[in-house]
Amino acid sequence: MPEACIFCRIVRGELPAEVVHREAGLVAIRDIQPVAATHVLVIPERHVADLRGLGPEDADLWWRLTRAANQVAEQLGHTTGYRFYVSVGPGGGQTVFHLHIHVLGGPMARLPV
Ligand code: 5GP
Ligand code: ZN
Repeated sequence: MPEACIFCRIVRGELPAEVVHREAGLVAIRDIQPVAATHVLVIPERHVADLRGLGPEDADLWWRLTRAANQVAEQLGHTTGYRFYVSVGPGGGQTVFHLHIHVLGGPMARLPV
């Protein structure tokens, strides 16, 4: 439900978040429970439950989300690289059902297996 969705509410400014980047159609915020020195979530403004909700018409959106992930990592000083992952559905460990890309940089915990 976009009305109750945490990330829709952050996008609308109804809930606070530490925004590190914003551009048309997307926002990047600090994760509330970081598992790395840098832990940012890149979130499309439009409510899409998970990666499986993107279609061919979203090719540009997906490219812009990935570009934002690259830019945020660079901007935060992770010039040698960073970890990029997306949880897809409950079986993929997703807990917030609004598409987001995790950007992890610096010392980080191992990904759960
Ligand atoms: P997932 O488990 O779906 O891959 O990732 C969801 C992420 O959202 C988790 O890393 C969690 O810490 C983060 N998160 C959950 N609620 C909030 C919130 O209200 N604000 C922020 N900034 N992050 C949140
Ligand atoms: Zn949403």
